[in-house]
Amino acid sequence: MSFADLGLSDELLRAVTEAGYDSPTEIQAAAIPSILMMRDLLGIAQTGTGKTAAFVLPMIDILSHGRTRAMMPRSLILEPTRELAAQVAENFEKYGKYHKLSMALLIGGVQMGDQVKALEKGVDVLIATPGRLKDLFERGKILLNGCSLLVIDEADRMLDMGFIPDIEEICAKLPTNRQTLLFSATMPAPIKKLADKFLSNPKSVEVARPASTNTNITQYVVPAPPRKKREVLRALLRQPDVKTAIIFANRKTTVRELVQSLKRHGFSAGEIHGDMDQPSRLKELERFKAEHINILVASDVAARGLDIKGVTHVFNHDVPWHPDDYVHRIGRTGRGGATGIAITLVSDADAEHIDAIEKLTGHKIATLEGFGAVDAAPAPSKPAPEKKAARPRRESQPAAQQPSRPKTQAKPARSAPARDPDDDGWNGPVPGFLSRGF
Ligand code: AMP
Repeated sequence: MSFADLGLSDELLRAVTEAGYDSPTEIQAAAIPSILMMRDLLGIAQTGTGKTAAFVLPMIDILSHGRTRAMMPRSLILEPTRELAAQVAENFEKYGKYHKLSMALLIGGVQMGDQVKALEKGVDVLIATPGRLKDLFERGKILLNGCSLLVIDEADRMLDMGFIPDIEEICAKLPTNRQTLLFSATMPAPIKKLADKFLSNPKSVEVARPASTNTNITQYVVPAPPRKKREVLRALLRQPDVKTAIIFANRKTTVRELVQSLKRHGFSAGEIHGDMDQPSRLKELERFKAEHINILVASDVAARGLDIKGVTHVFNHDVPWHPDDYVHRIGRTGRGGATGIAITLVSDADAEHIDAIEKLTGHKIATLEGFGAVDAAPAPSKPAPEKKAARPRRESQPAAQQPSRPKTQAKPARSAPARDPDDDGWNGPVPGFLSRGF
């Protein structure tokens, strides 16, 4: 099947070709024709399946007819996080380059002034997080009764974040004869209820979870008692095939402490978590995308669905509490057909969570030998993962099969004091050449 078979306009086909896509993904092939026929849609699909284009592409064609009216957006896309909302906006810009549609992004953490100005002019597409949207609605800055197309994206995440009552409230303000598209990676009972209430005779489309079928990602666990985690992590990060890595932690405080610790050890690291304001989060993401830093320490909420090409490794400093989060986390690597490596640090207390993950993915995770917690500086005795990370984003050294000792990371930090006072696993001063700026 090709994109031309789906009923999209020539302008869109041109934009899709320029985006470099040869053929539609499974969810796109199944969803786009039905959306163009104005049917409601229930899509069980997660990030990585191409689901964003599955709703953005037909929306652009549907919205290309019609006029905007002040304060009355013609369509609304609800996203659980600011990052996802910003990512969907980027998709609109990419695919909508040959259309003249107007768009506003309504997310918390950024000044409201510009958002309100855009709305006053009238927009075709409003992309919003539920909190900010409700806020503006309550101030009388926005009317939702002209909104004939609604997308609820990442519904199960919305549920985790407690947004379902907000969504119900928002849905009730939209016209009843609208088209509604709902996407969710899983279908727990409250989402099913939401779908039954707000969708009318929807076409159901379910596509495989990418992580359970994605053989591009080689997964490992490494034993590490809590007090030794940072030491083990540093040894892993120093492997020469680690070019660009995202490290996940369960708590925001862990994210903050870990990034400080890594910087003190000379790593070029940044952070992203829910306590940061929006400009700082976006700035940090940009630094990572532009390769000014090669390590991003992240919490789940902030990193959900991030689509960054060329991430060679995902590390889980903590085993996620929800097995679904594991699937999302490791899906940040191995994107777009590249290979990737996902390594999770596990302590004895994590056994139950690892079991739950293995049950969900149907995949037993191998133990990576040679990096488990040790008292001396780590000296890997077994080969690094055989599968090499594809497409390193900068000049790469050849990935050694059997590193004799940990190597330095790709990019040094600006400054690195001699030791990490809050880290039990300190293993020596940082060499001077690592402390220079870049
Ligand atoms: P998503 O599931 O929407 O987060 O998309 C995941 C990634 O797939 C993004 O980097 C998209 O640019 C990419 N993508 C979407 N559709 C296609 C396609 N038909 N062919 C190749 N890549 C695609």
